[in-house]
Amino acid sequence: MSSVILRNVCKSYGNLPIVKSLNLEVKDGEFVVLVGPSGCGKSTTLRMVAGLEDITQGDVHIGDQVVNDLPPHKRNIAMVFQNYALYPHMSVRENIVFGLKKSGADATTIASKLADVSEMLKLNEYLDRKPADLSGGQRQRVAMGRALARDADVYLFDEPLSNLDAKLRHHMRTEIARIQHQYNMTAIYVTHDQVEAMTLGDRVVVMRDGIVEQVGTPMEIYLQP
Ligand code: ADP
Ligand code: ADP
Repeated sequence: MSSVILRNVCKSYGNLPIVKSLNLEVKDGEFVVLVGPSGCGKSTTLRMVAGLEDITQGDVHIGDQVVNDLPPHKRNIAMVFQNYALYPHMSVRENIVFGLKKSGADATTIASKLADVSEMLKLNEYLDRKPADLSGGQRQRVAMGRALARDADVYLFDEPLSNLDAKLRHHMRTEIARIQHQYNMTAIYVTHDQVEAMTLGDRVVVMRDGIVEQVGTPMEIYLQP
C-alpha cells in the first residue's frame, strides 16, 4: 500500500484546460472519492494517476516515487472501469488471476487469492464461464475481483457502478464498503453519485470545472448546515 500525491497537476487538450493545478493527497489506507458533475475532469484525473493519460504539468507521486514517466504496467495499480474491460476470450477464473500471474505470483498465492476473491464476491459458481455469459452485475463483480486479487499499491475505480440498475448499485455499494474495511486499501474512486461518495469516502473531493471545489469527510461536505 502507498500514498498518492498530486502536486499542481494540469491537463490540457490543445489549449483547452481540463484539469487545473490540482493538489491532492491520498494517505496510505485512505479511500478518497472524487465527485462532481459529468465533464468536470474526474476521469481524466484518475487516468493520470493510472498513467493512461499524459500529464501536461505537475507531478504524480505513488509512495516515494514520482511516476509521471512510468507507463501503466510499471505502476503498481489496479483499476476497475465503468465498462468492466474484461478479457472476453478468458473465463472468469482466468480474468481474475491474469494480473497476478503477470506479476509473477506463485501457484499457491494465485490459488489462495482466487479462493478469497471468489468467496468474497460470490463468484464461485461462475468461475468457468466467459464474460459474455454473465449478467452486468456479475461482470462488475469479476472486474472488481480482478482488481482486488492484485496486491496493488493503489486501487482506482472509474464509475464502477454506473452501469448497474438501482438495486444492484445499492447492493454493490454496501459490498464495496465492506471490502474496503476488510482490505484497508488506498483507493481513488470516481463517481457523480453523491450517495456513493458519502457512503464510501473516508474523504470526499468535490470537483468542478477542473478544480477542487471542496475537500472533507462526508460529514463535513454533506451534513453540515
Ligand atoms: P468526468 O470524468 O468528470 O466526467 P472527464 O475527465 O471524462 O470528466 O472529462 C473532462 C472533460 O475533458 C470533458 O469535457 C471531456 O469532453 C474532455 N475530454 C476528455 N478526453 C478528451 C480528449 N481526449 N480530447 C479532448 N477533450 C477531452
Ligand atoms: P466517461 O464520462 O464515461 O468517461 P467520456 O465520454 O467522457 O466518457 O469519454 C469517453 C472517451 O472519449 C475517453 O477516452 C475520453 O478521453 C474521450 N473523449 C471525451 N471527450 C472527448 C473529446 N471532446 N474529444 C476527444 N476525445 C474525447
